[in-house]
Amino acid sequence: MEAKPLLWIVIPCYNEEKVLPLTAPMFLQKIQDLVAAGKISDKSRVCFVNDGSKDRTWELIQSFAARDEHFIGISQSRNRGHQNAVLAGLMEAKDVCDITISIDCDGQDDINAMDQMVDAYLDGCEVVYGVRSKRETDTAFKRLTAEGFYHLMNWMGAEVVFNHADYRLISARVLRHFADFKEVNIFLRGMVPLVGFKSTSVYYARAERIAGESHYPLKKMLALAFDGITRLSVKPIRRIAGFGAGVSVLSFIGILWAIVMAFSGHVVAGWASTVCIVCFMGGIQLLCLGVIGEYIGKIYMETKARPRYIISERTWQNSERRYKG
Ligand code: UDP
Ligand code: MG
Repeated sequence: MEAKPLLWIVIPCYNEEKVLPLTAPMFLQKIQDLVAAGKISDKSRVCFVNDGSKDRTWELIQSFAARDEHFIGISQSRNRGHQNAVLAGLMEAKDVCDITISIDCDGQDDINAMDQMVDAYLDGCEVVYGVRSKRETDTAFKRLTAEGFYHLMNWMGAEVVFNHADYRLISARVLRHFADFKEVNIFLRGMVPLVGFKSTSVYYARAERIAGESHYPLKKMLALAFDGITRLSVKPIRRIAGFGAGVSVLSFIGILWAIVMAFSGHVVAGWASTVCIVCFMGGIQLLCLGVIGEYIGKIYMETKARPRYIISERTWQNSERRYKG
């Protein structure tokens, strides 16, 4: 009989002491159910990645690990953000398991979709995206901004799966190729499709956070969209170039118009229009400089090639690793 795949559920946690006691047993139950259904190996694990929490999150993770061998935890040396925390967990997992599923720890993503994800993997898919089918529990405002986010991203050339965040199954094979994507500025949901391999989506309804508060208010979401776009694509620079060309043509027409007016003897008082044009051009130029500056900043960070994550503590032994990482 073929060996059952070994699954790691990778869960980033930042200041989640309120949520973890509620959701950790759910993840364990899911592993046990999948084992009982004969779909995965009993050596499967729930791997919590503590992202430099300031509350008791790490102590909680350690106590889970002491209680049940299916729980393990790794801790980042400081807070580095959601994306880097997920990456740390995936890189930890890639050499010891066959499949990973990354999911947030707040219970918003339906863990029952994992069954379909594993089924899709058993059918030969190496990447399975969890896609939210509806957003009824979100406020209208959150829904509008979140959906606008995906449209903006795609328009700007960052190919992301619509309504898919970071709930996805990735096989260890894909992860080992993913490890060759060395960029420091990471945006996982845009990068994973770039690796390729057979992929599919499963749909689920997104629930409300079980406890605690979102770390992604509008301001951070806008930052994430802007970062995601400039991390993945140079389209904004091209769009700006196109826009610049358009503005130049308009300006040229304006100049012709001014000359014709001047020759035809109409002396234009012209103060208002001059000020408008100067302001407009000034604004556009600053905006363009800002976008270009953003790219230069990213290049600066890339040239430094700082580590993307640093793991300071583990609740498990590295000797369990099957491959050299
Ligand atoms: N998170 C993290 N590091 C951070 C911020 C968030 O690891 O700096 C984790 C957090 O614990 C949660 C997930 O990322 O598991 C998503 O965060 P949240 O639920 O606040 O975002 P939302 O679902 O509201 O977009
Ligand atoms: Mg959440």
